[in-house]
Amino acid sequence: MTDKTFNIELIDGKGNGLIALRDISKREIIFKEKPFVWEFKSKYNEAKKQVKLCHLCGAYLSHAKIDPVKCFHSNENGCNALYCSEECRESDKNRGHKWICKESNSFTHSLIKQLEDFDENGHFRLCLYVYCMIAKVYEETNISNDNVFFSPIEAAEQVLNGFHMADFCKIMKAIRDNTLEVNDDLFHNIIAPAYFVSYLNGGYEIIKEIMKDPSSWKSHDANDELLTKFMSSDIFSESYFRNIMGAFLSNNLEIKIILENNEMLIGSGLYSTYSKMNHSCECNTIVETDLYCGTEVIVIAARDIKKGEEIMTTYLHEDPKLYAVKHRKRDLIQYLFHCKCNLCTIEESEGGGEDDDASQEDY
Ligand SMILES: [Zn+2]
Ligand SMILES: [Zn+2]
Ligand SMILES: [Zn+2]
Repeated sequence: MTDKTFNIELIDGKGNGLIALRDISKREIIFKEKPFVWEFKSKYNEAKKQVKLCHLCGAYLSHAKIDPVKCFHSNENGCNALYCSEECRESDKNRGHKWICKESNSFTHSLIKQLEDFDENGHFRLCLYVYCMIAKVYEETNISNDNVFFSPIEAAEQVLNGFHMADFCKIMKAIRDNTLEVNDDLFHNIIAPAYFVSYLNGGYEIIKEIMKDPSSWKSHDANDELLTKFMSSDIFSESYFRNIMGAFLSNNLEIKIILENNEMLIGSGLYSTYSKMNHSCECNTIVETDLYCGTEVIVIAARDIKKGEEIMTTYLHEDPKLYAVKHRKRDLIQYLFHCKCNLCTIEESEGGGEDDDASQEDY
């Protein structure tokens, strides 16, 4: 490709990052991207039932002026998933829609309802989609390669390739550290396990139940043996589950859609390219979403960007310039890195960040 705008490269100490391959001018669209998975907060479940949204990309179908396409399994009382295009329907099939298709059976359906009950932010459902994708990749690869056994963890690595899998509990520790001194022993032996049992564990058990539903595997010939291997693998261990949850919690972006009645639906989405952008308090892009159309993000150059420069976003919820220094640092702490942008470096050399090095050691 001659006009490639950026490359995804490994950057020292930062993991992945986007590097400009040519000069980019201010206001230029650098890329547009649909989420890998997304979900609205559960308090919008009722509103969601009343409006027609593409089951995959979240496009608001009333605005789209196109005839929606139904789920492959759609029938009178079965799945009512609608898509904005054949392409979205196919992609949803490829991410393992069959595990959560309401056509599959009422047992799965009732488990999904239970999951929604304590899934305020939609993170468990995001996690469920990822498990569906892993199962799909695992199943297809093993069916098509008779001789090579492809493990669920390999499938997971393929699906989650490149996402930063920060340990969920480390994030919780950092958030807590900001208000309360918690030492490592206390955290690892008491808080993390308690948190897992009280909050994560319920969702984890239901997701396992949904995934082991054999009826969804029966559409293929290879089923029982593969299913047993899949279910008994490390992919359903507590620690792997925490990794997958951690991938959302450290990478997700808030998404919003405005309906015709001006009601706003809020949720979160995981974006493959966007999640690889690093933070700078002086970031050189702005991120826009088309509130009336769906969940696509549009990343635009906020100023001229030179070839070779890193293309950066901000993890803060507002323009970094509007923050007081200490609030900016407080809000960044949960991301577990030390910002080395010009703004932070200057402030620190002027004495604004006196105990930064000490606090850095703690997480
Ligand atoms: Zn769509
Ligand atoms: Zn369906
Ligand atoms: Zn900074």
